[in-house]
Amino acid sequence: MSEPKKRIFIGLIVFTVLLITAITVGLYLIPYIGLKNIHPLAPTIVCWTMGSTLGLLLLGVGLLIATLVRGREVFLAARLRGIVIEVLFPIMILVGRVLGISKMKVQQSFVEVNNLLVRARCAEVKPKRLLLLMPHCLQFSDCDIKVTSDASKCKACGKCKIKDLVELAQKYDVHLSVATGGTLARRRVAEARPDAIIAVACERDLTSGIQDAYPLPVIGILNDRPFGPCFNTSVDIAKVAEALEFLAHGRCGTPVA
Ligand code: SF4
Repeated sequence: MSEPKKRIFIGLIVFTVLLITAITVGLYLIPYIGLKNIHPLAPTIVCWTMGSTLGLLLLGVGLLIATLVRGREVFLAARLRGIVIEVLFPIMILVGRVLGISKMKVQQSFVEVNNLLVRARCAEVKPKRLLLLMPHCLQFSDCDIKVTSDASKCKACGKCKIKDLVELAQKYDVHLSVATGGTLARRRVAEARPDAIIAVACERDLTSGIQDAYPLPVIGILNDRPFGPCFNTSVDIAKVAEALEFLAHGRCGTPVA
C-alpha cells in the first residue's frame, strides 16, 4: 500500500475514533443527572455499555492498523474488512469532507485498504472460481465487436487492453466478463458465483462494487482515464497479472505499487 494512502486512511480512522469517543462521552455526561433520576444503577449500566462498545471499537481499529502495517493477517482480517466496509467507510467519507479531504482520495484509500485486507488472508482461489470483471469503457470506442456478450470475440487488434485481458484470462484459465454498468456487473457476479473477483473500475464504481460484493473478496484496480471518465479508459496490465498470480497461485508477495 502506498504511504500517502496509508497515512490518509490511518489519519482518518484515528480522527473518526476520537470523534466517536468524544460523542459517546458527551452523550453520557449530558444526561448523567437525568439517568440518576431514572434509576440509581442507570449511569453505571450506560457507562459499562458505552465503555465496552468503545473498547471493542478501539480493539478492532488497533488490529486493523496492525494488519495494515504488517501487511499480513494479525487476527480476523475478514471480519475487519466487514467493519471497514460497513461501518467505518461511510463515516470516513463524512469526516474526510469535514477535514477537506476529497471523496476521491478517501475512496482510493478505501480500495487500497480493502486490497490489503484481502491479501492479508493470503488465500488461494481455484482459477475456475475467479472472475475478472472489467468495465466496458476499456474497449476502444470505435470497435464494434460485442465484447460484453463474449470477450473472447475480441480480434486482438491491440487498440485497447481487452486484447491483453483476454490473453491473461486464457493463460490463467479464469472467467473474463466485460460489463456496461453496475447492474450488469452484479448480474455477472450472480451468474458466475465466483470465490473471488479482480475488478477494474473508477473510484466510485470500485467502491460501490466492493461494498455490494462483500463478503466476497475483491481486489480492486483503478483504471487510467487519459481521455476523461468512461471513454477509452485503460488499465495497467501488470497490476491485473500480479493480482491473478497472487490469487490463482497463492503468491503472497508484495503487490505492484
Ligand atoms: S483489442 Fe479487441 S476489443 Fe479492443 S479494439 Fe481491438 S478488437 Fe476491439
